[in-house]
Amino acid sequence: MLFIVLIGPPGAGKGTQAKLLEQALDLPQVATGDLFRENLKNDTPLGKLAKSYMEAGELVPDEVTVEMVRDRLGRSDCANGAIMDGFPRSPVQADAFEELLGSMNATVNIVPYIYVDEEVLIERLLKRAEIEGRADDNEETIRTRMRVYKEQTAPLIDYYSAKGLVNKIDGEQSIEAVNRDLVAAIRLVAA
Ligand code: AMP
Repeated sequence: MLFIVLIGPPGAGKGTQAKLLEQALDLPQVATGDLFRENLKNDTPLGKLAKSYMEAGELVPDEVTVEMVRDRLGRSDCANGAIMDGFPRSPVQADAFEELLGSMNATVNIVPYIYVDEEVLIERLLKRAEIEGRADDNEETIRTRMRVYKEQTAPLIDYYSAKGLVNKIDGEQSIEAVNRDLVAAIRLVAA
């Protein structure tokens, strides 16, 4: 089994790259933000719970997030692993993830860290807001998401560096070049 955890600030291109990797590696993308948005759209109890957090750009509580991931990874398309996009998002979630993977006799294999300068990020996110109309892509929420990333998610870089799993990828390159670097890094650990 191969578990890849993509890390990077909002707007670094994790979603775009995860979709490209899905094809290259034949593994599913597990994007917690997409799963929450689907629940929101279908007005499920989980969606109702997540709504206010998402609109504010804050993290949805860990218990429900971890349960949602457990459920998703239990599906048959994840039998060979998954490309994690947006989870784990804090060291507490990373501990929970490790436990969850342990119960599947699996582990995190590589943590590509896609880094992009903050000014470039905000510009990208505002542009995405125009194109996709995502409700949480307004300037105030973007700043909150950036703060939440720095406070809660960025510590994961040290968390996974200590395990020797982090691979830095320059996210300011073209989409194709980022994909090429990612595939090369992953092939090395998957060989
Ligand atoms: P994303 O599409 O990854 O930017 O996620 C959009 C929103 O979904 C985030 O701002 C959070 O409110 C929520 N979310 C996504 N992933 C997580 C997670 N791992 N833990 C908590 N909340 C999350």
